[in-house]
Amino acid sequence: MNIEERLKKGFVYLEKEFVEGEVFAICESFEADQPIKKATLTATSLGLYDSYINGKKTDEQLFKPGYSYYPRRLLYQSHDVTPLLQKGKNELTIYLGQGWYCGRFFCENTVQNYGPHPALSYLFEIEFEDGTKLELSSHPGLEVYSTPYLYAGEYDGEIIDNRIERKFLGKAKSFTPGDFSLVLTSQEVRLQEEMPIKEVIQKEGKTILDFGQNFAGLISINADLLQEGESLTVRHAEIKNDQGELYFANLRKAKATLTYTKGKEKGWYTPRFTYMGFRYVELVGPYQEGLIKANALHTEMKRTGYFESGNKDVNQLYSNLVWGQRSNYVEVPTDCPQRDERLGYTGDGHVYALTGAYNYDTDAFWRNFFEDLRLGQMDNPDGNVPPFLPQVGPKPVGFITMQGWGSAVSIIPEMAYWQFGDERFLLSHYETIRKYVELEISKAGRKNLWMGISLGDWLSLGKGVAWQAMHNHPVSNAFFVKDLRVLLFLAKRLGKKEDADRYEKQLALTKAAYVKKFIRKDGRMKNQYQGSYVMALAHVLEKGDPLYDAIAAHFIRNVKKNGLQTGFFATEHLLPLLCDLNESKLAYDVLLSEKCPGWMYQVKRGATTTWERWDAIQEDGKVNESKMSNDNMVSFNHYSFGSVGEFYYRYILGIKPLEPGYKKALIKPYVDERLLYAKGSYESRSGKIVSSWKIEKDKVIYDFEVAMPAHIELEDGSSYDVKPGKHHFEAKKKIKKGERK
Ligand code: BGC
Repeated sequence: MNIEERLKKGFVYLEKEFVEGEVFAICESFEADQPIKKATLTATSLGLYDSYINGKKTDEQLFKPGYSYYPRRLLYQSHDVTPLLQKGKNELTIYLGQGWYCGRFFCENTVQNYGPHPALSYLFEIEFEDGTKLELSSHPGLEVYSTPYLYAGEYDGEIIDNRIERKFLGKAKSFTPGDFSLVLTSQEVRLQEEMPIKEVIQKEGKTILDFGQNFAGLISINADLLQEGESLTVRHAEIKNDQGELYFANLRKAKATLTYTKGKEKGWYTPRFTYMGFRYVELVGPYQEGLIKANALHTEMKRTGYFESGNKDVNQLYSNLVWGQRSNYVEVPTDCPQRDERLGYTGDGHVYALTGAYNYDTDAFWRNFFEDLRLGQMDNPDGNVPPFLPQVGPKPVGFITMQGWGSAVSIIPEMAYWQFGDERFLLSHYETIRKYVELEISKAGRKNLWMGISLGDWLSLGKGVAWQAMHNHPVSNAFFVKDLRVLLFLAKRLGKKEDADRYEKQLALTKAAYVKKFIRKDGRMKNQYQGSYVMALAHVLEKGDPLYDAIAAHFIRNVKKNGLQTGFFATEHLLPLLCDLNESKLAYDVLLSEKCPGWMYQVKRGATTTWERWDAIQEDGKVNESKMSNDNMVSFNHYSFGSVGEFYYRYILGIKPLEPGYKKALIKPYVDERLLYAKGSYESRSGKIVSSWKIEKDKVIYDFEVAMPAHIELEDGSSYDVKPGKHHFEAKKKIKKGERK
């Protein structure tokens, strides 16, 4: 039997009535009478586990084994734990919590979503110097104990009283799990840097700590500074309201609270089964310096992109959008880290994916997520890719069709192909994309357009769910066209002639139907909203098509008149499109506008991450509590509008791939005086690209460094093909449309 089969056979659980938030401990002791050569712990669980040998953590991964589509795939870990063992008596302790698997989760706040109770499986192999071996593994009869946890759950936090002695609860029974495969984990969430406390405010018996930055992370409490029996309660919040009070209402049902009571233990308490999205904490209990520390957390990824300019608001927005990613790439691409949601939304995921792939190397992150996408889709009779993943079970299209969200299926692998250069990931998802496109085709029927109820350009200002449901179609169907294009490219690439013919025909039909249904002859969209212009230009029509130019002209007029009016989907393309249409001055006007809706509106109001809603804080300083699909839908840490990062990397710095994986690069910066200078870099799979420019009087001075051949295009229209190396240029500053001399 291989390791996966052995793990699969080794699941144990405690037979007991389900109590939300319960945490068990499984303890096993053994004697090591010989010097140890190597010890390996391999483990997994349905629910979350945290493993210790002789009181020391076996590894740094948080939330093991990770969040996956449990009906089909469960992750496991294997660690060399040799240094933790000692001669004589040793003890293995594993805490087992409920986590995503059976703890309270999803907006509906339901429990036992993926299964009825937690279960654990492990193999512990010890090899002695003399060649003998000891093999321990989870088995029926293992002793299960209570823990000091009175509660542990993702949304509510933890209540732990370390004075509570462990009690024997019963012997574990064997558990036969469902039909999933066990897969060695490929990514892990870990604690990151410590976040400095920026301000301590004492108020009415409470202490408020301000970390100066909204982030996903964990508070740790220093037990050495408390007396036995002393308790501390820690509540987390993202913002203060207009009265200066911490604002908890947007957490909805998530209590986001830690209650810690000290027993005899020493050192730091760090929660095991929860994390929070916050900038502030409110403490009830004793406080002194050194009692509390906070660390950010996210899935481990290599940082690859950097940006800086001479405009501090532009820099702040960049910092906000990077923090948005850091807070939301936690196992899966979550929408937000604070309220009772934190779900792997496919729509949010794909709009930010390109920005995210500049900031960090996200290849492994997406490969992991796409396994759950693929496996989940196999269980959906109609081939649907739902709005968030991992799905719980079969999830065919529901009443709200959520078009656009499912198109993550084509958009993300295509993005990864260009950004990371490995065609295999894209090709391996041919079937996944094909099934989704077939669903779109069947829903479209003879109309060749899918006219379902959907959320359209979600959260464009002032457009509620009902309005979107009525008007979403030009946005939703632009995604249908996009999916067809990606699929057609792949069918051709794979030499699938019949498929290529079928999708080529369908693409022509859907495009024609789109033009007929949504666009007037003069290039005006019939539904005259900005998102519909953007999506038609981004995905449906091609440059060179006379209609493209006509639509573009109306689009530009629309932006000049209204400024930014886009939602989750169209925002990604808004500024890039304007630059591609030779309207970079207008693009910068939109970027720098301090009006609502707009990015600088939030920067000026002190945002340190990007907001879910453009008017999350209204002009009068009050939080926007108006209902959308949910009550109080006002997260201050949603990364979707951070998709403006594309504009930073691809337009301000001008770094784009000319060939997949940047085997050849394009450097084409768009310069604007209001930034004074810009510099930044991207560490691609083919090496580093550094781009910088500064404005000096009537000159633009450029310095580039490329590790690959590159094509450089400057503002004055000159262009150069260069070899790897450093390149310096000086060019005359060009007067742009709309700019005064
Ligand atoms: C989530 C989003 C998501 C949207 C659409 C919200 O509750 O936070 O980010 O895309 O719902 O359903």
